[in-house]
Amino acid sequence: MLAQRTLKSITRAVGVGVHGGQRVELTLRPAPPDTGVIFRRTDLPKPVDIHARAHAVTDTRLATTLSPTGDPGGPKVKTVEHLLSACSGLGLDNLIVDITAEEVPILDGSAASFVFLLQSAGIQLQAAPKRFLRVVKPIEVREGEGVSLKWARLDPFEGYKLSFEIEFDHPAVNQTGQRVEFDMGSGLYKQQIARARTFGFTKDVEMMRSRGLALGGSMDNAIVMDDYKVLNSGGFRYDDEIVKHKILDAIGDLYLAGQPLLAAYSAFKSGHALNNQLVRAVLDDPSACELVSFDDVSQAPTGLADLAPAW
Ligand SMILES: [Zn+2]
Repeated sequence: MLAQRTLKSITRAVGVGVHGGQRVELTLRPAPPDTGVIFRRTDLPKPVDIHARAHAVTDTRLATTLSPTGDPGGPKVKTVEHLLSACSGLGLDNLIVDITAEEVPILDGSAASFVFLLQSAGIQLQAAPKRFLRVVKPIEVREGEGVSLKWARLDPFEGYKLSFEIEFDHPAVNQTGQRVEFDMGSGLYKQQIARARTFGFTKDVEMMRSRGLALGGSMDNAIVMDDYKVLNSGGFRYDDEIVKHKILDAIGDLYLAGQPLLAAYSAFKSGHALNNQLVRAVLDDPSACELVSFDDVSQAPTGLADLAPAW
């Protein structure tokens, strides 16, 4: 049987919320089979559980924000996508995330720190079949027209692969890749995707700060660009780091399906909002998907049964 996975032990991290700038503590805990990922706001008078599900998304501006039952007035957890991307990349099904503020810490702006934390805690196989959401018909969402067109789609595919294209007219990006493809079955998430950092522009920072955003942002946790170049002294971590971060975000947003997907994702200039619409469109259409598990591990799609190394 291809089994569900949780953590072997508890692990902790302390960081800062990129938008609120507040100190936040995370405690990542093992969880029973079929829990999924739950954020638990332990700073509130009574702890509140927020399930990482597509219908719990209440805001997609700048980052993906969740509230219990999708009530925008409810307690929140913001910027969940990088941690969820790491969970998806490591094939981790069940996890409880105690959090002491309304924003997941940004750490280094990528998923690499979360991958490190989760691997340090170790991965535990559980006595329950891992359930995948197999997409059985094409589903597409679109926004805008002409030069402002954006789209994202899922097609049937017995595995999990993604392709993403941006049109990012900036001197530092023009000469590098604006399109990337990644196959989760390659086992190379940690090496090829996880280290891609979030990015921003100096010209936007002042405006964002005046609105109480990006208060915790710095060159320690983001690629910062002016009109011409990358300002971080080390430059890009990957030549195509910008579009790789878009794939990293999409992997996190798609994990809100509540199960790992068996599908091919492709997107053009998509973002958190369209990614969320896409997942909801699949979940809301019973003829678009089915839950499957693999009694015989050898029948599982290549690479998806392999366990990421942990220590
Ligand atoms: Zn991101």
